This record gives sequence, structure tokens and C-alpha cells, in this order.
Amino acid sequence: MSTEKHVYINGTWESGDGKERVLTNPHNEQVIQTIQEASKEQTEKAVHAAREAFTRTDWSTNKKKRTEFLRKAADGIEAAADEIAEIESRNTGKPIRESVIDVEDTVTCLRYYAGLIEQETPKDISMDDGTSSWILREPIGVCALIVPWNFPLLLGMWKIAPALAAGNTVVFKPSEVTPLSILKVVEIFDRIDLPEGVFNVVLGDGDPVGDSLVTHPLTDKVSFTGGSETGRKINETCARSLKRVSLELGGKSPLLVFDDAEINNAVEWILFGGYFNQGEVCVASSRILVQESIYPEVLQRLKERIEEINVGDPMDDSTEMGPIINRSHFEKVTGYLKKGVEEGATLYGGEILQDKGYYMRPAVFADVTQEMSIVQEEIFGPVITIQPFKDEEEAVYLANDTIYGLAAGVLSADIERAERVGSKLQAGTVWVNNYHIPYIEASWGGYKQSGIGRELGPQGLYAFTETKHLNINRTLASPGWYA
Ligand code: NAD
Repeated sequence: MSTEKHVYINGTWESGDGKERVLTNPHNEQVIQTIQEASKEQTEKAVHAAREAFTRTDWSTNKKKRTEFLRKAADGIEAAADEIAEIESRNTGKPIRESVIDVEDTVTCLRYYAGLIEQETPKDISMDDGTSSWILREPIGVCALIVPWNFPLLLGMWKIAPALAAGNTVVFKPSEVTPLSILKVVEIFDRIDLPEGVFNVVLGDGDPVGDSLVTHPLTDKVSFTGGSETGRKINETCARSLKRVSLELGGKSPLLVFDDAEINNAVEWILFGGYFNQGEVCVASSRILVQESIYPEVLQRLKERIEEINVGDPMDDSTEMGPIINRSHFEKVTGYLKKGVEEGATLYGGEILQDKGYYMRPAVFADVTQEMSIVQEEIFGPVITIQPFKDEEEAVYLANDTIYGLAAGVLSADIERAERVGSKLQAGTVWVNNYHIPYIEASWGGYKQSGIGRELGPQGLYAFTETKHLNINRTLASPGWYA
């Protein structure tokens, strides 16, 4: 990558014709890099390049070429893992040990989809009338892939790998806030033999860059991860032309702790579920529901443990929580601390830690009620609420009582109970005595206003395919209808 060229179209780096953006490090607010973003015209040019590559190259039909590319890309990223992890932590503020895992999971994702398309075979059905049918999965065409700032590389690859594996061509738009890891990955892609125009990257704001991708008539599919409000807008736009769309949106996920759970272990899961990646995780377990007999003990232990979390420099191996992504999000998160107190909740932790960088201590709100904004709205930071419940019925009611349905967790020694409760939770992922792990072979996505469609696993691949029924009569006889 040239330091001045940040737009990748048709296999060539270009200088962006759009806005200039200065990226700063959330740890110390120092400038990391200045980016020349794409213009609307460049974005449209990228869509045209992807369309040309889809129609004029053998990418969509040459599975061998695709598996080879995905495996070489995985090898290339693996070889540059340390550098990419450092870029990710500097740009996002996430602790380095988390970025290392993100890069590993990115590599796994590419290899998984390479393996999956090798195994995929069309379904063959013999019909009663002597004809036979093939059920074929074909690529959709040009896919616009748009992702948020919290897991720029990993969430990007959850879309890029299956979209390319399925034979589509891609225009990728990272968040304007965190484009740096993907730029490094494009350098790696660029060194591999990939037909020009198959993969393009445009940087910039939701408007004009994201919006141009979504509205362009040559874009066949939009796969979006981000906030529910943006998702709603994109869904409305896509509906006008009946464009294919997948949406991975926000959440307000509950973690249910039953009275048979070992308390110290349960509190560690509460910390991990709520504060991993500074709580800037769509599936963060930001609502903790605890059976009333153990509620006081859990709250006491939680208050002690949040004081012990090592908040600090993301590049330090011992750091357990980094800074919030940027000034405006920091103000949003700390604004909720004020709001929660005004609403009558009791706040523990949440202190602002230093002048430079966007650092705060993890926060817990107790004495909350179900209608409070801190219980209902996605804060997307290290802020959780804790509420007691009486029995399973009340736990399920409280857990399901938001507009979201992305994930949930159940902590209990009684696995039968955990499964029974889990089956009643309206969530795309339910973890029992576990949390946060996005198993590549499984699925990922939301009920209710947390999204439409699923990523990961075979469903993540099928999201980038159209299904064709090809019916064949081996002899050309008269249908005999108008005899
Ligand atoms: P956001 O919705 O503001 O932005 C997401 C992306 O959409 C960015 O690249 C942005 O530039 C782009 N965008 C904005 N407006 C657009 C438009 N009109 N047309 C096209 N693109 C547009 O979200 P964010 O603040 O970057 O990320 C935080 C949100 O993402 C949270 O709500 C979080 O829950 C959600 N998220 C969901 C998942 C999931 O898997 N469900 C994963 C991570 C984050």
C-alpha cells in the first residue's frame, strides 16, 4: 500500500478523491495516519469493476481458483499476524491479546470456507415423472460488504471469505473509523493471483460511500453489520429494488445466573461477557439477571472484581481492558452513566481514569427497573446492569423483554434446566456456561431487531448464493397437453 493511496479498485491502488480523515489512537489521541477516502464516483467505479469481474472472468465458475485464493490469503495473513494484530490494537484500542485472537479467527474463517466449498455438491433429485432435478447454489453477483468499527478485520472476513468462496465479486467498506487492518490485508490479497476487480475496497463515511454502494443498481446484495438504525435505513433502501440484504445489528443481551451456579466462576463469566473488548461487542452480556437468593453475594463479588480489572495501554500484554474507541463514543457511554443515575439506578465503578485517551473503569448499575434506558438501550461500552429474578419464568420474561434478540447466556449446574431455559430465549445464539465464542461451524445472527439472516457456518455461505432448480427431461417428447 502506498501511504497516499487508500482505495483499491480493479486490482490497483488509487488516491482517494473524497474526504481526508485523520485517524487517532484511542490510547493517547495521537495521530496514527491520514487517510484519503473514496468519492461517490470512485465508489461507483468500484461497483462497475466488480460487475465486470463477475461477468468477464471465470471467478464465479472456477472453484479451484477460489479455494486456492482463500488458502493463500489465510497463509499470508498468518505470516503477517503480529503486524496486523498491532495495527488493529492501535486503531481500535482493543487489548493486544484480543487482536491476536481476532487475527487467528480470521485465518480460520478463510480456511473454513475454502474447505466448505470443496465439500459442497449440488443436490440431485429423481422425480416420480422420470425427470431429474439439480438444486444448485450459484453466486449472487456484486456484493457490497459494510462493517462497523469494533472488530474491523474479523467481522470483515466473516463476509469476505464466504462471499468470495461462493463466487461473488466484492466491494468492501470498512468503518471510516477503523480501516487500517483491512488495508494491510488488501496488500496481502494484492500479492495473490486474484482476477482484477474481484475484490475492491472503498473507504469513507456511510454517506456518500456506504449509501452509494447500497443504492447502486449494479450491486446485487448488501451484507451489513452495524447499528440497528443504520440497518433499518439500508433495509428500506434495498426493499425499493428488492435487492438481497443481510443485516447483523445491535443487541442488549442477557446473562441468566441461577442459584446453583458456582459464584466465583459465574462472576468471571459476567466480567467476560460484559467487558470483553471494552463491552464494544454486539453480543456483550450487558444485562445480568441473577436468581434472588444469590443476588447480594454476586453483586458484592462483582463490585470487588471490577476494581481489579487491569485497564490500560492496549499494546501491553497484561492489559485486560483498553480505551473506548473515540471521543464521541466515550461521551455517549459516559452519558449513559449520568442518565442511569438520573433514572434512579445505583452506579458502581465507571470512573473516568485519565486525561489523555478514552479510559474508564468498568461500570455496574444495580437497583434498576426494566423500563430504564440503561436496561433497554444498547450502550456499547463497559456498562452492565444487574437485576434479581425469582424463578425461571420471570428470568425468561425479563431476558426477552427488549427489542433485541442477538445472544443470551445461561449459567447453571443443572444442564437440563439450562437447556429448557435456553429454548425459551429469543436469541440467535444461546451459550450455556460459556459466552462470546463465535464458533465458525455454527451460526451467528439475531432474532427481532438484532438482524435478518445468519453469518458463519454453511448458512453464512448460503447467504451469498441464489438457489437454482434445474429440472431435466432427458428425452424431448411432446407434453401431450393439447392433443
Ligand atoms: P454504524 O451503523 O454507525 O456503522 C456501521 C457501518 O455502516 C459503517 O461502516 C458505516 O460507515 C456504515 N454506514 C453508516 N450509514 C450508512 C448508510 N446510510 N448506508 C451504508 N452504510 C452506512 O455502526 P457502528 O457504530 O460502526 O457499530 C456499532 C454497531 O454495530 C452496534 O450497534 C453493534 O451492536 C453493531 N454490531 C453488530 C454485530 C453483529 O454481528 N450483529 C457485530 C458488531 C457490531
